[in-house]
Amino acid sequence: MSRETLLLRYHEVAIKGDNRGWFERRLAHNARQRIYRSLNVTSGVQISRTHGRILLETEWNLITKDALDCVFGLSSYSPIQKVSTEKKEILNQALAEFKKYADQYGLPKTFRVKTRRSDKALSDSSQEIDRWIGSAIRDRYPILEVDLKHPDFTLGIEIRFGKTFIWTEKIPGPGGLPVGSNAAVLCLISGGIDSPVAAIRTLRRGSPTQFIHFYGAPFVGEEALQKVEDLIRIINRYHPETGKLYVIFFGKIQEQIALVTNPKMRTILYRRMMIRIANRVAKTLKIEALVTGESLGQVASQTLENLAVIHSASHLPIFCPLITYDKDEIIQQAHQWGTFETSIRPATDCCTLFADRHPLLHTSLAAVEEEECKFSVNHLVEEALSSITPSLKPARSPVEEWDLPNSVVLPI
Ligand code: ATP
Ligand code: MG
Repeated sequence: MSRETLLLRYHEVAIKGDNRGWFERRLAHNARQRIYRSLNVTSGVQISRTHGRILLETEWNLITKDALDCVFGLSSYSPIQKVSTEKKEILNQALAEFKKYADQYGLPKTFRVKTRRSDKALSDSSQEIDRWIGSAIRDRYPILEVDLKHPDFTLGIEIRFGKTFIWTEKIPGPGGLPVGSNAAVLCLISGGIDSPVAAIRTLRRGSPTQFIHFYGAPFVGEEALQKVEDLIRIINRYHPETGKLYVIFFGKIQEQIALVTNPKMRTILYRRMMIRIANRVAKTLKIEALVTGESLGQVASQTLENLAVIHSASHLPIFCPLITYDKDEIIQQAHQWGTFETSIRPATDCCTLFADRHPLLHTSLAAVEEEECKFSVNHLVEEALSSITPSLKPARSPVEEWDLPNSVVLPI
């Protein structure tokens, strides 16, 4: 088992002035939580922050790498070696790191040295340091060529206050913002291809996500619910704390709506009921926005008019991260985030129950409200809410406290 110190990077553009410390602590906390979850431990990861850099000291293997690949907010990270900012030490360590790389992967054809300085402890400029270390490496391996634009190999040097970090590997992160840097949302998840992608894209913008599924039992089989649960397990890979699934037993509610309403309007009536119920659940959870996987024009219920009618049942804002995406683009994303194979498992979604195969393309609010007079909306909302599993408990505040002190002295 090897331990490494990792240098975590994030897109600085996401940080506004005074937010920086808060943002860094959130990211560091999430990275640590995510590693703990993967390793099934509660200690052993040390975090320190130093002048705009986060260092994480951790067990380092494929499991920790896999965990960090799911930490939104990370733009990239590197295992580093730390030395004091003295020319001789930097040079020796740089040569040692180069040798370690060449022994493991073979000698690259081209290389470059890339130095960043936030500390002027050395009088040389970054380019001078690049040249100085680069030529020392070439003296040892004269066959090597320097390529500043597209080298096979980069040796990175970061000179920070008091210390110098040397790295040979820059691993891309998943980007976005750290989960918890925005308020929480409630995602309506159907078990199709779209809503899991919508949930992950929302997590990637920093919003912790809870889930609600409308389950068509007894008219759809258990495989529908099983599929949603499996999808949430995948989505939760990107969630440091894991989001919870609330299930509403919706089949009997739909049956009562179907008994008295126009089959061509039923999908829209069901969806308006879902939105009303989701609003109530969100309110109890102290969540202030809903997320769906809707995409403009994808199906009849998602023409602009129908979406407007459905969304008008909501008090809360409804975010649709995929609203402008083509199905092909959504499928490509589903592959990227690992949800596709589960999403295409056969299972019936409740939206199609008792509904006409060709719903109305352009409804109006007045026509839909007239249809809703034929059943008791409030009564059915209450009936649905009484079926919720697990029962609703007040949620923790979406942005939790985390236990990192404000400023940490670098323990090197
Ligand atoms: P998906 O959109 O997830 O691929 P789908 O295409 O079968 O599934 P649509 O008919 O496009 O579903 O529904 C649009 C959106 O409505 C879904 O993305 C989801 O947010 C919500 N939704 C549909 N059915 C359900 C359900 N049974 N439970 C919760 N939300 C649902
Ligand atoms: Mg869809």
